[in-house]
Amino acid sequence: MARQQNLFDTEPAPWEVDAQQTVLTATVYLPTVPGGPFDYSVPSELSDTRNPGVLAEAGRRVLVPLGRGNRRMVAYCVAVESKVCSRKLKPIAGVIDKAPLLSPAMLRLTKWMADYYLCPWGAVLEAVLPSGVRGKAGTREVKLFRVPTKVIARLTTLDVTDKQRKVLEVLASSNKPLLARQLIERAECGIAVVNALCEKGFVEVKQERLDTDPLTTEPVARRGPHKLMDDQARALRSIGTALDSREQQTLLLHGVTGSGKTEVYIQAIEKVVGFGRQAIVLVPEISLTPQTVARFRERFDGVAVLHSHQSDVERHREWRRIASTGVQVVVGARSAVFAPTKHLGLIIIDEEHESTFKQDTAPRYHARDVALWRTHDLKIPLVLGTATPSLESWHRATMGEFELVDMPRRVSGRSMPGVQVVDMIEERQTGPGRFLLSRRLQQSMTGTLKELGQIILLLNRRGYSTHMQCPACSHVVSCPDCDTALTFHRVDNSVICHWCEYREVPPSHCPECKDNNIRYSGSGTQQLEAAVRARFPGEAILRMDSDTMRKKGSHETALDAFRRGDYSILVGTQMIAKGLDFPNVTLVGVVNADVALHRPDFRAAERTFQLVTQVAGRTGRGDAGGRVIVQTLQPEHIAIAASQQHNYKMMADAELPIREVSGYPPFGVLYRLVVRSELESHAVEFAKLFCSQVQQTFDTAGARLRVRGPSPASIPKLRSKFRYHALLLSPSRETLHNAVEKAIRENPPPPGVEFIVDVDPAEMV
Ligand code: ADP
Ligand code: ZN
Repeated sequence: MARQQNLFDTEPAPWEVDAQQTVLTATVYLPTVPGGPFDYSVPSELSDTRNPGVLAEAGRRVLVPLGRGNRRMVAYCVAVESKVCSRKLKPIAGVIDKAPLLSPAMLRLTKWMADYYLCPWGAVLEAVLPSGVRGKAGTREVKLFRVPTKVIARLTTLDVTDKQRKVLEVLASSNKPLLARQLIERAECGIAVVNALCEKGFVEVKQERLDTDPLTTEPVARRGPHKLMDDQARALRSIGTALDSREQQTLLLHGVTGSGKTEVYIQAIEKVVGFGRQAIVLVPEISLTPQTVARFRERFDGVAVLHSHQSDVERHREWRRIASTGVQVVVGARSAVFAPTKHLGLIIIDEEHESTFKQDTAPRYHARDVALWRTHDLKIPLVLGTATPSLESWHRATMGEFELVDMPRRVSGRSMPGVQVVDMIEERQTGPGRFLLSRRLQQSMTGTLKELGQIILLLNRRGYSTHMQCPACSHVVSCPDCDTALTFHRVDNSVICHWCEYREVPPSHCPECKDNNIRYSGSGTQQLEAAVRARFPGEAILRMDSDTMRKKGSHETALDAFRRGDYSILVGTQMIAKGLDFPNVTLVGVVNADVALHRPDFRAAERTFQLVTQVAGRTGRGDAGGRVIVQTLQPEHIAIAASQQHNYKMMADAELPIREVSGYPPFGVLYRLVVRSELESHAVEFAKLFCSQVQQTFDTAGARLRVRGPSPASIPKLRSKFRYHALLLSPSRETLHNAVEKAIRENPPPPGVEFIVDVDPAEMV
């Protein structure tokens, strides 16, 4: 699409050239058109501050004519200023928003994001505003009538009809402006009477937006603070000092599961609220349960919640509540980092290591880095809480950039659960049929059930069998569009692609060689559930994975039922590993730790440690204590050994030198290129060309770059498109950024080839 500035690249026509002239100019970016900035003139009727409803100013959306056809487009205005212009600018055609949607601070933040994440500013602006906010969902424009006080004073002497006087009396006796409907009803007259009064200036009208569906939340019983444990008190003091310093500081709150981090957050926020300021608490989407929200509602009057399962109406309402006043705490998932708080005093990120804080569509931002920027901008503290810090944050803490605050003990002197590791190679040698539940795990389950404890079994793969393979020709039954193995789902009697949902009836014999001994392998949660049912008949078993938890609200319903004790055994994928507090769970089994260990990702060991530690943290929260059994083929692996000892530092000390040698984060900066095309050769060629361009810039600068790939991505083909990726690693962010930016600018992909660049990627799939 043509850009306005390009239209003038040729010599301007004589009539277009005005003498050098100062013009009030609106600078805008378009969400749908890359590039910019685009300048437009501001007509006088849109620059009159006495008319704030249609004022063109930074932070509002405007309508602009674009290109030769002057097509009207929505654009974000980022600045309005007088500029000397040598050419005639087109005028903006209108102002959409009655007030700015984005504060100056938000504009600065989004500008930084656009640069840092290599994403057009217009697209960033569009992405940080929920669509419900842009569309003003759930509100309607109404007219409100009131009578000015000076008119009330003269009420008896006014020259009006009896009907009109009745209207004035009704308005004068009301303590708030009335809607037309209310007014007509009470004054028992028609709208014409009201209109006549407006014309005479005796009644004022203003337009306002009202909720169509006002907020109703269940009342929550209030609760007082816990008396803090020593570790908690120390952590709170550190945050308090940071708050008093009025400087940006990042505190890494390394607290084991059950160390009472939430109580520390709450008491820190109480302090912030005491200054009349607000706090944002980010939690992973999956742990944003009603229980989490209730813990904050018990302690604060004004809690707003933002997450991705809300309707447009709900999000818009919360957004406006936050922007007006009265909200003290915003609890939300990733995008709540953009909450329009007026006087932000603190940001907290719970479970800061979670990769869900990274957005996987453009702009591919990480909420932690956005929060770092926002807290620096506002000179306020950032608290990162977790039992298993990301190695990036840990490294920054050891370098003194973040302040490390340790909470190594559980509250009330509860001990950490004992972790036993079962070597599944040994187990298999002792007899067949023990692939899923080792004897150790079975015995522990029997014992736990006898003592009326509850059990959680984690297996991070859904479906029944993850592979169907022919033993004769080794053909694997795969998705025709994605080239990945199809997972057998016994519940639906089909084999399903977990990437594109393609499904078919399981073949009874090998589609390649017709051999009829086709084998199922790789157990998923469905098979685990079946095995547990067979072994423990009569027990109430609940399975939670994305197949059983499709419906809205099913997640909460299931967890509530488990917490109540309706089930004795919970089987599930990682969705059960996070942040949940079940006092009666005394045994946790990690059925196959190798699933996480063997992911093609330089963070595989770190992630395995996190997963085992998090799921182990679900047990031993009550008085009955708890224990954990981890089944693996690699018991000596550092991630397993370290989680057995609850020793984060052991994992970090082993893992960091490996990262350092290979130049991976936190020692090097990583950008990931992903290229897609229906033609494999086109994908490879473009990826190679792109990488060699980046390499050239580095060669010219005499700087060092490591390139891994291009190679097929871990999902080598998705929905009929081949995927290639390459990892670009450099010690210098600036050099890498400039080189990649140049390569993007100078290498538009050929038709049929698409690519993305993921800055600081969290996933390698
Ligand atoms: P974490 O988030 O660190 O895993 P939580 O904040 O969930 O830990 O706390 C674990 C449990 O301990 C919660 O049930 C909480 O109510 C309780 N708790 C927290 N602080 C205290 C305290 N000072 N005294 C008693 N109980 C506490
Ligand atoms: Zn597929």
